[in-house]
Amino acid sequence: MNILAVGANPDDIEFLCAGTLAVYANRGDTVFISYLTTGDKGSSDVPPEEMAAIRKEEAESSARIIGATLLPLGIPDGEVEVSLSLRRRIVEIIRKTKPDVVITHYKNDYMSDHNCTSRLVFDAAFWSMPKHFEGDPDSSPCLSLCPPLLYMDTLGGIGFQPQEYVDITDVMDTKIEMLSQHKSQIGYMNDRDGLDCLDYAKTMAKFRGYQCGVAYAEGFVPQRVYPSLSPKRVLP
Ligand SMILES: [Zn+2]
Repeated sequence: MNILAVGANPDDIEFLCAGTLAVYANRGDTVFISYLTTGDKGSSDVPPEEMAAIRKEEAESSARIIGATLLPLGIPDGEVEVSLSLRRRIVEIIRKTKPDVVITHYKNDYMSDHNCTSRLVFDAAFWSMPKHFEGDPDSSPCLSLCPPLLYMDTLGGIGFQPQEYVDITDVMDTKIEMLSQHKSQIGYMNDRDGLDCLDYAKTMAKFRGYQCGVAYAEGFVPQRVYPSLSPKRVLP
C-alpha cells in the first residue's frame, strides 16, 4: 500500500501518527510524509531562515528512520490558508503518491496551520479524482478513486474521540526516536509551553493504549463521506 501522511508543521506527524507509519513501513508499505510549513517560527532566538534549514534536517533524519519519502511544501509557519492554490498543490501530491490511505490533522486542532491543513487535505482528496481539475504542477494523472481519509489525534487529545486504534507497542521506541530528531522543538516547546515533548508522546500513546487494551496506541477518526468510504479497514 501507499500511505500519505500530511502534517502542517515539520514535527506534527511524529507527535500524532509516527507509530502507525512505522507499523506500515515495517510491513513493507511505502510511506510518504508531506508537511506544509518550513517550521521557520519554531524559535524565539534563531532567525526564521536559519530555523527552516535546521528543521528541514531534523525532518529528514526522522523520515530516514522508517525510510519515508518527504514532500515538504515550503510555506512559512502561520501562513497556511485554505486557498485554491494550496488545494492544487496538495492535489498534485495526492496524485503523485497514489495513496491507498491519507492521514491528516483533525478539523478542530489547536492552531490555524493544523486546521487549515485538515480542510485542504479533505478538499484535495476529492479533487484529486476529477480529470479536469488541475493540480500544481499539473503533471500527475488524476486518481480513479477518492482515497480514504483518516484524521489523527489533536494536540493533548482535546476534543478528539478515536473511532479506530493502532497498536504501536512494538514501534514505540521508533516513534520516540523519530520525535527525538526534532531537537530544536524539544527545547523550544519546553520554553514556550513547559511541554516535555517525549514525555507527552509517551503519555498520550499510553492513554490511547488504555482505551483499547494495549500498552501504546494511536487513535484515528475516519472521514465518513461519499465516495471515499471503504468496507475494509485501511489501518494496520
Ligand atoms: Zn504543528
